[in-house]
Amino acid sequence: MVVNANLNRPRRLAMHKRWILGFAAGVASLLAGCTAMKQARLLEPTSFGMEQIAPRVYVKEGVSQEQRRELIDSYEKARQRVMEFYGGLFTDPTVYGCDTRECIESFGGVGDGFAAVRVAGILLWKKVFGPGDVAHEWSHLELHVRLAGGARRTIPAWFHEGLATVVGEIPRHSEAVYQEVVSSGFPIPPISDLITGAQWGAAFGKYPNPKGLNVVYSTAGHEVRVWLERVGRHGLVSLIERIKAGEDFNTVYADLAEGAAAASRRPPAGAP
Ligand SMILES: [Zn+2]
Repeated sequence: MVVNANLNRPRRLAMHKRWILGFAAGVASLLAGCTAMKQARLLEPTSFGMEQIAPRVYVKEGVSQEQRRELIDSYEKARQRVMEFYGGLFTDPTVYGCDTRECIESFGGVGDGFAAVRVAGILLWKKVFGPGDVAHEWSHLELHVRLAGGARRTIPAWFHEGLATVVGEIPRHSEAVYQEVVSSGFPIPPISDLITGAQWGAAFGKYPNPKGLNVVYSTAGHEVRVWLERVGRHGLVSLIERIKAGEDFNTVYADLAEGAAAASRRPPAGAP
């Protein structure tokens, strides 16, 4: 799923597989309806065991004082980070800190971190309350809104996740992790195998490594990082505008990279 933060733990993987099986069994619409109802609980968090600790931060009772402070601090840092990265904010999400993974599921989320697009909410499990974790999910919401919602269907999972990985800078998803995967000779998923949410979820089992390195997130992050270095922030802005205008993602993504490469080959103005 595009909006999961961490599926590399075995238990998460099992749960994710069950979720995908649900779709395979043809209960997708039922499940989607159920998820929407659960996510709607985030609009009335205090009715479902959450308390407000900052204007945009709620937590479950079982979250310690120290963890509460961490989450409020992470919210501020993530807000700054996402704003700087995108050059402003189109979103103003609320962050919900859960004490258990079951709590995340009770609000219609999956995984350790979840961006609930319908209600502009970020759900996080207390083990991952860092600024990068908040910024990662925030990036999903920001990109979704900047693409005017519906256009998100044309965005491959690897790009949504890769961009969130670049913005979040979570150490377990970093470029250093990717380079370690490369130098260790561990299997790396081609991005063509990370397009749909189902492919994304399946990749965690399909590309294992003995060190437990998060090859899926770090690969998506590497792909987008290299592209961004080439096209710059204005390339990202162009990509969003052109996709909103109805252009195909793959065409625009490749076109911007080629345009940037051609521009770098041209001699500087004034050169003989
Ligand atoms: Zn994500």
